[in-house]
Amino acid sequence: MDLAELYQDIILDHSRNPRHHGPVPESERAVEHENPTCGDTIRLALATSGDHITDVRFEGHGCAISMASASMMTEAVSGKPVAAARALAARFAAYMRGEVEWADDEMGELAALRGVRQYPLRVKCATLAWHALEKALGPPADGQDRA
Ligand code: ZN
Repeated sequence: MDLAELYQDIILDHSRNPRHHGPVPESERAVEHENPTCGDTIRLALATSGDHITDVRFEGHGCAISMASASMMTEAVSGKPVAAARALAARFAAYMRGEVEWADDEMGELAALRGVRQYPLRVKCATLAWHALEKALGPPADGQDRA
């Protein structure tokens, strides 16, 4: 199996069996975000304790790339400090827009999405959940971790 096939398998696995996916209870403060060019929508809720993200849930529908990226995002930020999650979201979006480089072995499973960079219209599919995450986190309280 070559790398392209492996990445394809990771995307299919996450889009068919998305992690942290299911109805977000009405009681939870959720944010919604959409990508009109593809029809992807996501509703996302975060639970935090102190300055850590303890849980993430999302529901939504869209193309395989948007759902796989949302699933990978939830795994990447669960248990992480809020500042680290914010930094990861900013880095991922910049990477997908081709503004920064990022070594595969540092990206982990997110590297499976690297091929999407060749398709500018699909980049918004891949970054949808990450923008929802940024929206859910809100602006930094003291402004210091926003680069
Ligand atoms: Zn899409």
